[in-house]
Amino acid sequence: MPVLDFEIGGSEFITIAGPCSVETEQQILSTAHHVRKHGARILRGGAFKPRSSPYAFQGLGLAGLKLLAQARAETGLAIVTEVMSEDDVSLVAEYADILQIGSRSMENFTLIEAAARSGKPILLKRGMMATIDDLLRSAQLALNSGNPNVILCERGIRTFDSTLRNTFDPAAIALLKHISHLPVIADPSHACGDRELVPALARIGIAAGADGMIVEVHPQPEKAWSDGEQSLSFDEFHQMMASLKPHIALRELASSRLLETVG
Ligand code: PEP
Ligand code: MN
Repeated sequence: MPVLDFEIGGSEFITIAGPCSVETEQQILSTAHHVRKHGARILRGGAFKPRSSPYAFQGLGLAGLKLLAQARAETGLAIVTEVMSEDDVSLVAEYADILQIGSRSMENFTLIEAAARSGKPILLKRGMMATIDDLLRSAQLALNSGNPNVILCERGIRTFDSTLRNTFDPAAIALLKHISHLPVIADPSHACGDRELVPALARIGIAAGADGMIVEVHPQPEKAWSDGEQSLSFDEFHQMMASLKPHIALRELASSRLLETVG
């Protein structure tokens, strides 16, 4: 699936990185430059935030979209950001290269259809209570709306075990890669909610066959307006990217070997 000058779902493992929410110009621009320097292709950042509490920060809206566009102009990174309402689809599609449908919206079928009709690629996150079949049905809805470019995202689900924020389900990644032709990415940040565990979950995602990952990074995680506990600092992101190199290389080697064998 082509995005700007690269492919998602091809031989390259694609890293999407950035803050949970766009907060300030300095925050988003410094993060964009840092993640690009260490291998990210796509900048993430929420301008419209689906928060579990109505009292939590809800996002900068249009001002956030403009800051994301500024970051793209400065760095060449593609932009992914969430669209929460049908009413906002055309506005968000004006600024973003990929539209994110968040977990809480995975069953908002009219939103999915409207987002798909924008023609932009869709990053569809698995609902926290959704089965793999539910996720595929929502993806099918986007495909049926005439948009073939859907990326599936495993971001952890709710189970009886509440020790971590969610329960990461790498088997879903392996299965989706097996039964669907769509690109599949891992979200190790929301899957555990704890920055200490993010690199390990990223490794698991790569080993399970993910085509990429989406990871939260913030210049000062302890001061983040949302999801600070799971956001990597700049140093932590840099270290993780360095430590993932052999895992990514192995994955690329394995897929090229596979292509050779299959002919
Ligand atoms: C996010 O990506 O910041 C987000 C809110 O994710 P999810 O929809 O997976 O909770
Ligand atoms: Mn988040």
